[in-house]
Amino acid sequence: MLRKLVRSMAVPTGKSGGTVDVPSDAITRKLVRDPVCGMHLAEGLAVTERQGGEVLHFCSEECREKFMGTPKKFAANA
Ligand SMILES: [Zn+2]
Repeated sequence: MLRKLVRSMAVPTGKSGGTVDVPSDAITRKLVRDPVCGMHLAEGLAVTERQGGEVLHFCSEECREKFMGTPKKFAANA
């Protein structure tokens, strides 16, 4: 009984079944650095701000505003 169970679990890995590990999440795994707090975070999660020709990445809206200076609008505070 046990022998049969083990045998059914031992599936040959060489069989072509589409179990190829494709690094499709390579883009989201790219880390960027927040210039305000120095924190590293995934590019996909970052708040981006375009300044001139370069794109800056921040961990949150708060850090972005800190970098930009005094926030021009306080509506988000309500
Ligand atoms: Zn930050």
